[in-house]
Amino acid sequence: MNIDMHVHTSYGSSDSNLSLDELHNRSKIINIDAVCLTEHGGPWSEQSINQAQQRMDNLKLLNAMEIETEVGHITAFGFTQYISGMRNPESLRQIADKEDAFIVLAHPFRNFTQKPPYNNNNLLFKDYKIKPETIEDIAKHPIFELVDAIEVLNGGTVLRENLWAWDIAEYLGKPMIGGSDAHSFNGVGRYMTVFEDEIVSVESLLYSLRNGSYYPAQLDDNNKVIPFRR
Ligand SMILES: [Zn+2]
Ligand SMILES: [Zn+2]
Repeated sequence: MNIDMHVHTSYGSSDSNLSLDELHNRSKIINIDAVCLTEHGGPWSEQSINQAQQRMDNLKLLNAMEIETEVGHITAFGFTQYISGMRNPESLRQIADKEDAFIVLAHPFRNFTQKPPYNNNNLLFKDYKIKPETIEDIAKHPIFELVDAIEVLNGGTVLRENLWAWDIAEYLGKPMIGGSDAHSFNGVGRYMTVFEDEIVSVESLLYSLRNGSYYPAQLDDNNKVIPFRR
């Protein structure tokens, strides 16, 4: 099953231009089975997502959210609402355990390789006086212990910064996730995650994220889904 794990719609994210109808139309062009709605403002209400689902034909909508924490963005699966304390990564980990949610460090190296002053926009190392440069030193950042997986392919991040995420995930043995971070029609599906299992609900997504087999993938020039090769 091909799932875009990171999508923003104009319904739930004020910075997105992607309407639900556009998302629906795009899913007919590319071979995608489901999308995770990772809105900035929190998950959709159950009623809204059920209503939207009825208009979607074969595209499955999976409720999720993107959380802005003190050290960067985290996409979260299995929460039904924003809970106070989520900004702090340790506290987010505790809440996720309590709620049985799965949390993914999103685009950890965005702006990491830009020249100053733009690299100050990297959220992971913004408080570091000296930015670590080797895989071994970077991997010591406490956030990597706290998350369940790492988003290694993010459509809003340049390739070399995605590759840093890929290498860190490989080094730490963390599960790898791909998602487009689409905010518009053309972005949807640029990267995704291919699951061996059939996923019909957030519950089955959570099960497969923990127990199943999956890999990050991309769209080729003919909109065909192919595994990403480092
Ligand atoms: Zn983000
Ligand atoms: Zn995002």
